[in-house]
Amino acid sequence: MDISMRAQKLEPSVTLAASAKANALKAQGQNVLSLTVGEPDFTTPKNIQQAAIQAIESGKASYYTPSAGIKELRQAVATYIKSNYQLDYQVENVIVTDGAKFALYLLFQAVLNPLDEVIIPVPYWVSYGEQVKLAEGVPVFVSCAQEQEFKVTVAQLEEARTEKTKILILNSPSNPTGMIYSEKELRAIGEWAVLHDILIVSDDIYGKLVYNGAVFTPIATLSEAIQKQTIIINGVSKSYAMTGWRIGYAVGDKAIIATMNDIASQSTSNPTAVSQYAAIEALSGEQDTVETMRQAFEERLNKVYPMFAALPGFKIEKPHGAFYLFPNIKETMDLCGYTDVTDWVDDLLAEAHVALVTGAGFGAPENVRISYATDLDTLEEAVARIAAFIEAKSTR
Ligand SMILES: *Cc1c(COP(=O)(O)O)cnc(C)c1O
Repeated sequence: MDISMRAQKLEPSVTLAASAKANALKAQGQNVLSLTVGEPDFTTPKNIQQAAIQAIESGKASYYTPSAGIKELRQAVATYIKSNYQLDYQVENVIVTDGAKFALYLLFQAVLNPLDEVIIPVPYWVSYGEQVKLAEGVPVFVSCAQEQEFKVTVAQLEEARTEKTKILILNSPSNPTGMIYSEKELRAIGEWAVLHDILIVSDDIYGKLVYNGAVFTPIATLSEAIQKQTIIINGVSKSYAMTGWRIGYAVGDKAIIATMNDIASQSTSNPTAVSQYAAIEALSGEQDTVETMRQAFEERLNKVYPMFAALPGFKIEKPHGAFYLFPNIKETMDLCGYTDVTDWVDDLLAEAHVALVTGAGFGAPENVRISYATDLDTLEEAVARIAAFIEAKSTR
């Protein structure tokens, strides 16, 4: 039996593949340092765990929930957006999903017709293009150079725009680059999108994780017209250390949200009930732990950035958010006699037992992604091993 053409065109997630490879080596007893993961290394805060335990013990987590999520949670999302974005939304503007990843999936299924175009700035998060293809849309990749902090400009967007352009995806702070768009940049992009009736998908998942005084501006807050043109994607995974719970959400136009809900009702039925009760506590309970974790990431960033930046040939923009470094290692590859970044990453894992993610999966074939969501000892040891690997390979 042939598998579908749609599925044949799908690229599996490089980040999940990189973690799997590292774990396979670990299972063989190797001392592998994995800097691949896109998740906080903290455990979910206690108050959130308690809310989940209570939901199980009371029995209320035993049942199906409405497919768009428990009303109390949808309301908690609206309240959270009100207090963090100063924007008014009703429960009908909110759908709770199985992670932010599935919110994006539902959105593309809800709005894209075959051959509709979606502009995706490069480097991009691994799933955007593949999800667009699964919805029979066409990803239009726009390269954003490291010299422009990997950020797309209106001039570039205008060059990429056609009659078929339906969506622009923005992700600030960005995975993998850690860059943040300024208010001025976002205002220009937002006005362009309004002018051409292009839906802005604003992936705000790292909005709480910004460092050293950087400010996260949600594009939806910049004008009423831009707000109407925007679907906010967010979730509890990254800011509340809840990746395993699988709760995300989308906020925006009621008709789009209702359509996403119809698709969810025929596919997943509802996000896991116990996780929804936990998410209510995450969004509505005390927020101190979010700041504690943010500070820990900031401290680590400030310690490890200079160490990685000092590696031979590593060119890194200092990130302002998320928890990744995204160096261009072209010179390092030259030094080691490599032309393909994925080969370099594979050999680093095989020989030095350090796992990074190839930039190829993010559309950046001269870069690697390094997650610093791990302890300092591991990061320091990884730097030492990478330095030794480069030294040993060095052809000069
Ligand atoms: C982690 C991540 C998501 C998805 O998060 P979920 O765990 O599915 O809620 C979405 N976008 C970006 C950029 C991410 O890094």
